[in-house]
Amino acid sequence: METEVQRMICITCPKGCTLEILRDGDVIVDVKAGCKRGKDYAHAELTDPRRMIASSVVIEGALHPLLPVYTSAPFPKPRIHELMQTLRAAKVQAPVKMGDVVLEDVLGTGINIIASRDMTRI
Ligand code: SF4
Repeated sequence: METEVQRMICITCPKGCTLEILRDGDVIVDVKAGCKRGKDYAHAELTDPRRMIASSVVIEGALHPLLPVYTSAPFPKPRIHELMQTLRAAKVQAPVKMGDVVLEDVLGTGINIIASRDMTRI
C-alpha cells in the first residue's frame, strides 16, 4: 500500500498548528506536530474522536425552562447525534445543584451528564 500525507488542524490549544499525518492505509506511520499533545490529538482523532459537549435539558419546577449541562468526559463523536436526541427527550426536576449528575451513564458510555448551574425550585 502507498503512504499518504493527511493534514488536520490541532484544536488542543489556541496555536492551531497544522498536523501532518503520514499514513499507510489505516496505519499511522508518523505525525508531525508542534508538540506531543498534538501527536496525541492526531492519534485520538483518527482512532476514537471525541468532544466535550455542552447543551441543555428541560427542567420542571424551576424559574427557567432549560438547565445547562455538559458531559463529564469527552463524548464519542459518531454518537453525538444520538446524545442530542437523548438530551432533547430528557426532563429533570428542580431543585438541582451545580455539579449534580442529571443523567448517569448516558447511552451506556460510562459518561454522565452534569448540571452546570444551580436551579432552585419555585
Ligand atoms: S500541536 Fe501542540 S502547540 Fe500546536 S496546536 Fe496542538 S497542542 Fe498547541
